[in-house]
Amino acid sequence: MKYYLILSAASLLSFSAMAANDSFRVLMRQPHSYKTFYSNVKLSHLESDSSFDGSYFKIVKGKSNEAISFDEEDEGIRTKAATVYYHLSEARNFWVNQIKSERAESLPKLTIRLEITNQFNELGHYAHDNKTPQYNNALSIPAGETPSWVPADKQDKWGKEIWFRPKKKVLTKDLGPMGPNPLTTSLMAMERPLINYVENQINHRIMREFFFPAYTNRPLHEDIIRYAGTYALMKLFIHGSRYTDNLFLDKYFYLDTAMVPEIASHEYAHLILSDHLEMSHSTPVNEGMADYFAAVQSKKRKVYGKVAGFSNSAPKDTQEKRLYSHWDESNRYATSDFTLSVLWDVRETLGEEIGDRVVYQARKYLKTSTSTISHGLLSAILRACDEVCEVPRRDKIKLYGTFGRKGF
Ligand SMILES: [Zn+2]
Repeated sequence: MKYYLILSAASLLSFSAMAANDSFRVLMRQPHSYKTFYSNVKLSHLESDSSFDGSYFKIVKGKSNEAISFDEEDEGIRTKAATVYYHLSEARNFWVNQIKSERAESLPKLTIRLEITNQFNELGHYAHDNKTPQYNNALSIPAGETPSWVPADKQDKWGKEIWFRPKKKVLTKDLGPMGPNPLTTSLMAMERPLINYVENQINHRIMREFFFPAYTNRPLHEDIIRYAGTYALMKLFIHGSRYTDNLFLDKYFYLDTAMVPEIASHEYAHLILSDHLEMSHSTPVNEGMADYFAAVQSKKRKVYGKVAGFSNSAPKDTQEKRLYSHWDESNRYATSDFTLSVLWDVRETLGEEIGDRVVYQARKYLKTSTSTISHGLLSAILRACDEVCEVPRRDKIKLYGTFGRKGF
């Protein structure tokens, strides 16, 4: 009896220690809205009762290998660790339960680094501290180890990891060329039809001059000046619109990747897809594939929307209506939403369930180093459809139509 009492007192004690830590402040998005809010939630599969160390994720700060403590004094870091832990756990649930990925189920525990500014180095884990520190992004890294010739004190071995970099306000104009702004793009789209129209008008006017001079209201040269004037005005607008960037862009850019819920899903997707799509560098195809699964999980039309105080970057739109151009293949456009919109159209064509299976299966025929959208991705989708579509012949004809409407 005494023994029993002691036992229950001990379990009560350990229970109260856990209870103090079982709910954490986490940032999340409202359902059916882009707004964010904080909620106190329980974290699943925690193995430690004093730090963010669980069965599937260990959250550390910088280059440390110790999990961040629940008693971490910086409240911002505590919230960030809980937020990342929560959204990564959700991402894992999605892959295991909805996509039925065996790889997600068997993936070894991941180390998640917050606030790390070092560049990744394949041979040494971290590049030297002084080598251009990185901000405002996140990346997933493959497992690796230092070669045997590296001195013993610098030997390192690591598993798959996700790195979230700190945010830093940078001047938008320092980010380099961002491409034409939306006003310039829409004016440029009008330019060709306008030239055609002006040409037509001039031709008609000259014809009238010769065949029906009685029907002309003005001398020929006046009309030509009028048409040319319209065209010159248009050119002037296009030129001027290039200087209106600040109507569309904030002066500063900042992105705290750990506090944008969909970025955790995006990085986790890279790890799952990396059995075929290597994580060596960013391409429009491997980013689009990760965006697709982040978008499916978010259940929203636009992903990575602004988070007050943490990110002012523009969201990516699953319904982006642009037509394909060869520029979309350039790695500089890896951050655009064009590939996402192509894959989203596949989902709308085949239905959610088959669409998700086809896109996941398509990774088997993709390679980060060589796959382009127009060749690699489209044929991978069609091959995947052969394997998982209900009626491949019928569904592939539907897909041809979908690709055609995207300008391929
Ligand atoms: Zn990515």
